[in-house]
Amino acid sequence: MEKYNQLFDVIVIGAGVMGSSTAYQTARRGLKTLLLEQFDFLHPRGSSHGESRTIRATYKKDYYCSMALESSRLWEEAEAEIGYKVYFKTSHLDMGPSDSEFLQEAIASCQTNSIPVRVLDRSEVFEEFSGKFQPPEGWIGMVTPQGGVIKATKAVAMFQTLGVQSGAVLKDNTEVVDIKKDQSTGEIVVFTRADEKFRAKKCVITVGAWTRRLIKTVRGITLPIQPVEIAAYYWKIKNGHEDKFTIENGFPTFGSHGDPHIYGTPSLEFPGLIKIPIDEGGACEPEERTWAAPPDMLDSLRECIRERFGGLVDSNGPVITQSCMYSVTPDKDYVIDFLGGEFGEDALVAGGFSGHGFKMAPVVGRVAAELVASGTAEGVALTHFRIARFEKNLRGN
Ligand SMILES: Cc1cc2nc3c(=O)[nH]c(=O)nc-3n(C[C@H](O)[C@H](O)[C@H](O)COP(=O)(O)OP(=O)(O)OC[C@H]3O[C@@H](n4cnc5c(N)ncnc54)[C@H](O)[C@@H]3O)c2cc1C
Repeated sequence: MEKYNQLFDVIVIGAGVMGSSTAYQTARRGLKTLLLEQFDFLHPRGSSHGESRTIRATYKKDYYCSMALESSRLWEEAEAEIGYKVYFKTSHLDMGPSDSEFLQEAIASCQTNSIPVRVLDRSEVFEEFSGKFQPPEGWIGMVTPQGGVIKATKAVAMFQTLGVQSGAVLKDNTEVVDIKKDQSTGEIVVFTRADEKFRAKKCVITVGAWTRRLIKTVRGITLPIQPVEIAAYYWKIKNGHEDKFTIENGFPTFGSHGDPHIYGTPSLEFPGLIKIPIDEGGACEPEERTWAAPPDMLDSLRECIRERFGGLVDSNGPVITQSCMYSVTPDKDYVIDFLGGEFGEDALVAGGFSGHGFKMAPVVGRVAAELVASGTAEGVALTHFRIARFEKNLRGN
């Protein structure tokens, strides 16, 4: 088709939240953009589908705090442009043992970034949230105003729509199998499973759990990005208590930094249910997944739910389980860098979001667009996200 046969300024490969946000950002800068996706748009086989993701600014590594603050602003700008809501604000609670390294460093990071933070002892946490959280003996809580829920699939659809409105061309069911640089023209040529070819001046690779495989083919290097299968669980709130767990009634997004590390969002997408998953899963390959919940993890989660939520959540078992994937680097820092080699600065990879990327999609899209447009991007500490960190030390930063 004619519209695909042009020389694009940028081809973005992979239409999860990162690719869709990037395509929107490149298109709105006037760059002729093509976004390619191997499956149907908004499919449930990657990392960006589902009802909700948490946005919070509490991080041990303080360079993520400022990214989260910028993202929060950019989510609101995108909402204003599209005219509907994907971002529902509330406060955020982190709790854990008083000597928890996460809590101590997250408090310091918030202070460095001028994020108001209140540190509460265990009885103050109980009182502040009217008995809905019951931290164990010796635990503390930290509360920040920058929490919230992002409607995941709806947000990806929003970026794709905004991209199209800005002139991007979108094509799904198009699996990219190789990318080459045409040495005579200097153009990037993208090859697909169906023997199609697309041409551009630059490309951005945002292929989530498929990153290691595609980069190995294209560039011959093995990035240490491990796909991990994760389950999101929804639990039933006991009869008569459903309203207490809503944003309207002050319920926060939260992380509980014990063993296991659990997190959750207020009751929003399924009335009467609350999302409480464990922040861990088993290594997988994207095409070899169990799609099932590991039984031993569920046992420890059940116990946590029985003990931590004032007896108001039914801990017998989750009523909805949704499977998803993280793409985890050894240091849990992202990879946002030029591919180098024959591609130099004409191909950029953005992956390895390690289970904490969704909230940052607007800023990642902004940075990726600036990098392909001008070679530099301000406002984000890109040195932490370089590929070269693994050359010096396989464990990264
Ligand atoms: C259960 C769960 C809960 C999470 N909770 C949070 C949270 O609370 N807060 C937060 O910030 N983050 C959270 N995350 C992490 C966040 O969702 C991810 O970091 C983010 O979605 C990663 O997006 P992505 O675009 O990199 O990957 P993906 O969404 O997987 O997108 C990559 C896309 O590339 C496509 N693709 C792959 N290979 C090719 C190819 N060769 N050709 C064409 N297309 C290709 C794939 O089909 C896919 O659509 C969570 C993740 C999970 C799984």
